[in-house]
Parts: sequence; structure tokens; C-alpha cells
Amino acid sequence: MATVEYLHIAKTYPNGTRALEDLNLSVEDGEMMVLVGPSGCGKSTALRLLAGLDPSSGGELRIDGRRVNECAPQHRNIAMVFQNYALYPHMTVRRNLEFPLRMMKLPGPERSRRIEETSRMLGISDLLERRPRQLSGGQRQRVAMGRALVRKPRVFLMDEPLSNLDMKLRTRIRSEIAGLQKRLGITTIYVTHDQVEAMTLGDRIAVLKDGRLQQCGPPQELYDQPANTFVGAFLGNPGMNIFHAWAGSGTAALQLAGGSWQIPLGPLLRRKPKLAQYVGHPLLAGLRPEAFSPWQTPAAAVLIESVESLGHERLVHFVPPGATPGAKSETLVARLPGPQAEQPGQHIELGFDTGQLHLFTHEGDAIV
Ligand code: ADP
Repeated sequence: MATVEYLHIAKTYPNGTRALEDLNLSVEDGEMMVLVGPSGCGKSTALRLLAGLDPSSGGELRIDGRRVNECAPQHRNIAMVFQNYALYPHMTVRRNLEFPLRMMKLPGPERSRRIEETSRMLGISDLLERRPRQLSGGQRQRVAMGRALVRKPRVFLMDEPLSNLDMKLRTRIRSEIAGLQKRLGITTIYVTHDQVEAMTLGDRIAVLKDGRLQQCGPPQELYDQPANTFVGAFLGNPGMNIFHAWAGSGTAALQLAGGSWQIPLGPLLRRKPKLAQYVGHPLLAGLRPEAFSPWQTPAAAVLIESVESLGHERLVHFVPPGATPGAKSETLVARLPGPQAEQPGQHIELGFDTGQLHLFTHEGDAIV
């Protein structure tokens, strides 16, 4: 059990790539922290630095309050599971699990006890005499986790551990990992580029972009109150619609998407007092697909571009009247309940819940 702290951590690789800049992140004891962001944003680097596989270029790493920057990897007591499992192909499952225990120089009976305990916990007791090639993807994944857990590490690091599995198995193992992590109470940092995995697994999630932390907090908080347009658009499938807005000083109304919708400024200013500083400036607005509905005001006659029917709901891609048809950046998407009811080319009235409107500066920072 342990806490983990990244304090002003930076990493520049020898070729000049700046993978992390001034990362500050604290992981609590027993917490599942998910690092999420697009490929190349520095997630794996953050794990590798903590595991001691690469040195940081600046800042301090602490485990349980103690600086570990100079501590050799084997003394950090951290276990890591990668996406390519890295099981020893010529060894049985039992020997794979035993390997780290031999490295720790544990006596035979203790090794056997831990192997029995871990394999029971992961439901792989009947696979102990098989070799990795005789296992399914899901079973291999469990063995890889077992090999990490059998050491009873202080911190557990997982780097995209499910990316080699098919969709159904991913969902199942994801919930197994969540249950196991809670049961064992091991401080865990989990890396993924998949926002669904992040939302469902994390006690808290940390969103990274270009080596910089964008926001960190409980999943629902980030979903409901994104700190910037990147986080808003990254979380959710589809993500938040981001489009132009303008709070005209003379009109006392907020104009959205080229005037497609207008809402009175007064109530908005009461809800978001900082908006007053941005009257007369170009802004960005954000609406989640589920914020739209045909029965709400303000309403606008929008042009349907396409509809994706998912059976119980549909994703309606549309262009608001003030926008240019065909301009990709001006196409918005609404999530409406029920089967497809509209055709491309048709106009429908579409409004939204003003309580769910997000506003951002032109640079993309949330206005609260
Ligand atoms: P992620 O895990 O989010 O996909 P990484 O941490 O692997 O991102 O990489 C962050 C950035 O650092 C990327 O631009 C990547 O190309 C670069 N990078 C990663 N490892 C090395 C390395 N050993 N040498 C040089 N650049 C690297």
C-alpha cells in the first residue's frame, strides 16, 4: 500500500522529444488512477519514469512520501503489466508466476503459497501446467496480472493491458480488474487511450495532452465540468460538440453557432459570473450530444446530414441554420432516444437544455 506523487516531473528524451512537462499528480493510497489521452501524449512515459525504467529530466517522484528518483527499479517494489503481456513462452504458467518470486529469493513453500493464492484469486488454478501458447488472450492477460500481483507490489502499473483483447472480453476483464483492484486495495496507475475504459475504471482520471496534464478528478466531475474544450471533446462518445458563440454587448443575448440559437445573457451571467469579462469577445460553446432535444427552447430548424441508428437511440448529425452546410467543423451531433425518425436532407426543430451549456474562452478554457 502506498501513495505516489509526481512533482514538477519533466521528461525530454535524448532525441529532444519533450514527452512530459511539469507534471504534478498525487495518487492516494489504494486509489485507481487512470491516465488517459491520445497516443503520444506521454502516458507510458509517466509509468516508465515511476517504474524506474527511464530517468526523469526534472522534478521529483515520491512513493509513500520518499523520493525514489535515484532508487533502482527492483527496489521500488512496483509491478507493471504491459499490453503485450511479455510472458515467458517456454515456461508453464506456474513457472511464469514463480519467476519474480525466485528473483526475490523467497523460499519454496512461500513461493508455492503465493502462487496458489494468486491463481485462485484470478481463476487460473487449472491452467498452472499450461504454456502461454495454450492459453486464450483473456487467460494470458490474467496470467500477466498474476505475475505482477504475486509479488505483492506496493504500486501496480498497467499500460493498455486490454488492447489485445476483443470488445466483449475487454468489457469483462475490465470489470474483473476493477473488482480485483478494490479487493486488494493496491494503489494502481492505469494507462489507456480509451475514454470508456477511463470513465468506467478510474476512481479519478488524469487527462494528458502533449505531455501536459489537462485536468484530474473523478470521472463524472470531468464529464460534467471539463476544464477546457479538449477534455470536453475527449470524454464521451461522441464527445462534446464545440462551436462558436458570441456574447454581443448591445444585444443582451448570447448568439450560438452563427446566431442559430440565442439565449438571454442575464440568467447566464448569474450562473457564470466570469462571462461578464468576455462580453464582446468571440467565445466557444459546448453541448454534449444528449443535451439536445426536439422539445426544448431555444429551438432552431437544423438540417439533418446523417443519422446513425443504434436501435435504442440514434446519433443525428446536423448543421444549424447559421452554419455552412458541408463544413465539417460546423456539423454537430445530437443523441436522441428511440429508433431513426428523420432522413438526411430534412429539417427538424432542435433545441437544448440551457442548463447543460458550457462556455469556453476562444483559447478553450472553461468560463465558470
Ligand atoms: P503515450 O503512452 O501517451 O502514447 P509515450 O509516453 O509513449 O506516449 O510517448 C510520448 C512522446 O515521447 C511521443 O512523442 C513519443 O514518440 C516519444 N517517445 C517515447 N519514447 C521515446 C524514446 N525512447 N525516445 C524518444 N522519444 C520517445
